[in-house]
Amino acid sequence: RTVYVNGAYVPEDEAKISVFDRGFLFADGVYEVTSVLDGKLIDFAGHAARLKRSLSELEMESPVSEDDLLEIHRHLVRVNEIDEGLVYLQVTRGAADRDFAYPAEARPSLVLFTQAKPGLADAPAAKKGMRVISIPDRRWGRRDIKTVQLLYPSMGKMMARAAGADDAWMVEEGAVTEGTSNNAYIVKGNTIVTRHLGEEILHGITRAAVLRMAAEAQMKVEERSFTIAEAQDADEAFVTSASTFVMPVVEIDGEPVGAGAPGPVAARLREIYLDESRKKAV
Ligand code: PLP
Repeated sequence: RTVYVNGAYVPEDEAKISVFDRGFLFADGVYEVTSVLDGKLIDFAGHAARLKRSLSELEMESPVSEDDLLEIHRHLVRVNEIDEGLVYLQVTRGAADRDFAYPAEARPSLVLFTQAKPGLADAPAAKKGMRVISIPDRRWGRRDIKTVQLLYPSMGKMMARAAGADDAWMVEEGAVTEGTSNNAYIVKGNTIVTRHLGEEILHGITRAAVLRMAAEAQMKVEERSFTIAEAQDADEAFVTSASTFVMPVVEIDGEPVGAGAPGPVAARLREIYLDESRKKAV
């Protein structure tokens, strides 16, 4: 694989980052994951816009322009021959003598790599649905910034695996925030419910697109908190993310949701999302 590191395309085993990089020492960095279908980028503009916001919240500069960023994405997709998969991008504050305060001399570091994921759009999991458990949300308070500090979500995945489930939904003050790496939704009657935006959740790029498409398809959307009990009593549940698109959830803490099988609303939204995103892909 060819990867991108600070201005150069290099084979992955020749890529180097300083041991003083603040991404490594402080998780002082942000990231984006953009999916690739038919060799094209899905919603690149959305990811670029969120990256800009994450950087600005941390008083970091983007090391390259948005046009250059798009070119780097495209180049990696081409040279690594990615038909279906992902492009991972990370910006950290860069290397400097270790200090808690942001060092004035640090220059941001930019890394990108690809992951081939054949069958991403045609995932068997979309037909089977996921089983989730609920866990307390023990992350920090600025989850709207897409930082690389992902240890608690990793622990959540492991808790889910230990419980024989696929993923975990995190709960704070009695309400579901989101999944370990996705936004959470329930469907009751013909209404789609997902948590309102705020500092408590990541503002999913897929979430924004799916809610827009749901509204265009005359579906009713409510952005508000919901509980695990309400979710277990819903007709359907699902999650969204750049790498899973729309994925049905069929069981929560051992209780089946609705019929305990993927529901029609999630299936329809997945189809609309994939169709429209492919058309607009760059
Ligand atoms: N919420 C969390 C905590 C995430 O980590 C992610 C994706 O990585 C999402 C939501 C979904 O965001 P997006 O649709 O932009 O991938």
